Amino acid sequence: MRVGFVGLGTMGGAMAANLARAGFAVTAWNRTPGRAAELADLGVRLAASPVEVAAASDLVVTIVSDTPDVEAVLFGDRGIADGATPGMLVVDMSTIAPSATRDFATRLARLGVGMLDAPVSGGSEGAKKGTLSIFVGGEAADLDRARPVLAAMGSTITHVGPIGAGQAVKAVNQVILAGAYLGVAEGVVLAIKAGLDVEQVVAALSGGAAQSWVLANRSGRMLENDYPLGFKVALHRKDLGIALQLARETGAALPISALCEQIEAGLIGKGHGDDDVSAVARAIRELSGLQG
Ligand code: NAP
Repeated sequence: MRVGFVGLGTMGGAMAANLARAGFAVTAWNRTPGRAAELADLGVRLAASPVEVAAASDLVVTIVSDTPDVEAVLFGDRGIADGATPGMLVVDMSTIAPSATRDFATRLARLGVGMLDAPVSGGSEGAKKGTLSIFVGGEAADLDRARPVLAAMGSTITHVGPIGAGQAVKAVNQVILAGAYLGVAEGVVLAIKAGLDVEQVVAALSGGAAQSWVLANRSGRMLENDYPLGFKVALHRKDLGIALQLARETGAALPISALCEQIEAGLIGKGHGDDDVSAVARAIRELSGLQG
């Protein structure tokens, strides 16, 4: 199968490399030339535009930043839609709004082009290792066609419903993470203020009901007040915006997510948008009078 790939950022560069290593003939494009230059050594053909990618592919993966960016690469000037032939399949792996995803699928269907939404969890590490969790929305027959491609990038592939459902599952994932990060940040700050040995506290809690991936892997950063990437604050705030929009559409109340989104807005305003999302602890530390 000829695979196209649009968006060679932190995630996309590593995912396209895994496709090439798995033996797929990959044609790729990135808006800023020169990113993921090492892909050429793996046999990836670099195209000059998304339209060129589409014309050379049976299936095109997109993974760019946000909803308007997916719209731009699909339907913008020299976009994928301009080069698509009937029967082609688009697999969007970006994290974007479920409602826009359904709209994009409808517009592609008019051209005879199928679409799956297949957002991922597992971070840059999972992208490199090919161990992403992939939440797929769309037709089962389209997923059958895409499965070998997805299997080269992820280890868990779950068909969660019709088009847009993958994005809704991803929103749930990001909402749960908001509570996990804020809860661990408050726990770490309370432990510091109470004069406890934070590392001992984390070890003591790790076998109990408060254990979590965030406690195990990010409490140390919160203690150090140092937040290397990871997953950017700015991207998590974007994802909470999607979740809060879905909550408005469905009548769900998400007070923790709304609070976390505002804390992250404050961090971005202070220049911390590129920090790891565990930097929410920075805000809790400041409220508690812990500087540095
Ligand atoms: P990134 O490193 O910032 O890369 C973003 C990519 O999108 C770049 O290739 C960028 O091109 C491209 N792009 C953005 N706007 C564009 C536009 N209007 N037209 C064309 N290309 C555009 O981000 P990332 O971490 O790879 O994340 C990509 C997606 O995966 C996001 O939706 C994110 O939420 C999701 N995700 C990320 C992680 C993670 O841990 N990083 C985990 C799960 C899901 P340029 O190089 O030209 O800027």
